[in-house]
Amino acid sequence: MLQMDVASLKRSIGDTSCYELQAALTPLEVRGETVSFCGPVRVSLDVCNTGEGLLARGQIAGNLQMTCGRCLEFFPYAFSLPFEETYRPVSGGGEASSGSSKNDTESVTFSGDILDITPEVINNIILALPMKALCREDCPGLCPHCGCNLKAGQCGCESEKIDPRFNVLKDFFGREKK
Ligand SMILES: [Zn+2]
Ligand SMILES: [Zn+2]
Repeated sequence: MLQMDVASLKRSIGDTSCYELQAALTPLEVRGETVSFCGPVRVSLDVCNTGEGLLARGQIAGNLQMTCGRCLEFFPYAFSLPFEETYRPVSGGGEASSGSSKNDTESVTFSGDILDITPEVINNIILALPMKALCREDCPGLCPHCGCNLKAGQCGCESEKIDPRFNVLKDFFGREKK
């Protein structure tokens, strides 16, 4: 869990605290696929008490185990993303003033002295995932004939392709022999 103790920060408006967090997160379910993390997710944040809430800004970094869209092999996918979120403390029943706060999707509410940013971090990672991940930009993928992984080397199917110019020659020599 990516959690920080904001007990003292909560009480001092205008203050900023730095947090370095890291946690091993459970695998993500993305578009029907399970994506696991390789190692912990690291978050470094500056959290500022703006008076209205806690503005957390920083960077998320880590590695995911993704499946290559071409060769179907697992590969480590490194990510580094900006993070920005406003956390508003839940005030005890003082929500009657204006209805606008309910439509406010810009901020997340929290209560107590522990701020858990795990859900927002996970959302950010999922949103940043590529639709089709490739183990490398020029991954040759699988051979359409035998299914072998061309990254490991040529499979032999390629050499069976007959050069059309060679066919002409074969015909030519075939005719000569008659
Ligand atoms: Zn690949
Ligand atoms: Zn092949």
